[in-house]
Formats: sequence, structure tokens, C-alpha cells
Amino acid sequence: MPETIFDKIIRREIPADIVFEDEHVLAFRDIAPKAPVHVLFIPKTPIATLNDANPAQAELLGRLILAAAGWAKAQGFAENGYRVVMNCNGDGGQTVFHIHLHLLAGRAMAWPPG
Ligand code: 5GP
Repeated sequence: MPETIFDKIIRREIPADIVFEDEHVLAFRDIAPKAPVHVLFIPKTPIATLNDANPAQAELLGRLILAAAGWAKAQGFAENGYRVVMNCNGDGGQTVFHIHLHLLAGRAMAWPPG
């Protein structure tokens, strides 16, 4: 798959406001936040879209979700609530083709999303 801007962030070739990292997952603040808290959780192993994920990557996908939930608890807004979103391809609004989980918090979210 072609490189994306997220590979450069993983390699620290471009700056990002990194808030969480472990062996498998990196999380950093979105450059164009859509909520007071807007953090992207990405696997260090690139997967272009959710359509490209395979069963062998189930643990990695679980790690993304659990990393987001753990960070939300650590930051103290988990009880108030938050939203996690993964956009897939054109109709889903995906613009960076390295899967990422958006964590949005700090305001009440509308439903359905636009
Ligand atoms: P998508 O639209 O693919 O679901 O989300 C991609 C997200 O990446 C967007 O919310 C966009 O603002 C964010 N983004 C794109 N380029 C950069 C960047 O260079 N740095 C950071 N921190 N976020 C970025």
C-alpha cells in the first residue's frame, strides 16, 4: 500500500501531538479537531482501510479500541462519554488510507452523524 502521512508521524519525520504509544498503537491529536478532544488511534502496522483488515489482525484492531477506551478513562472523560469512529472509503469520509479510530469527546455528540 502507498505510504501516508501517518507513516511519517510514526517515524517522527513530521511533528504530531502524541498522547499515547505502546508497541502496537500510536495516538495523536487530529490536526483539524472536530471536538474539544479529537485524537486518532492508529496501528503502527499500516492497513489501508477496514476492508483490508483480516482475521489475523483481530487482536490489533481490539488493541486500537481498548487503547482509546483506556486513554478516555485515564483522561477522566469516560464517564461523561465520548464517540469512536472509523471512516471507510469514499462514502465513509476516509481521507487518509491508514486505518485510524477517531476518539471525539468534550461535547455532546449529535446522532445520526452527517
Ligand atoms: P479520515 O477522514 O481519513 O477519517 O480522517 C483523517 C484525519 O486525519 C482527519 O481528521 C484529518 O484532520 C487528520 N489529519 C490529516 N493529516 C494530518 C496530519 O498531518 N496530522 C494530524 N495530526 N492529523 C492529520
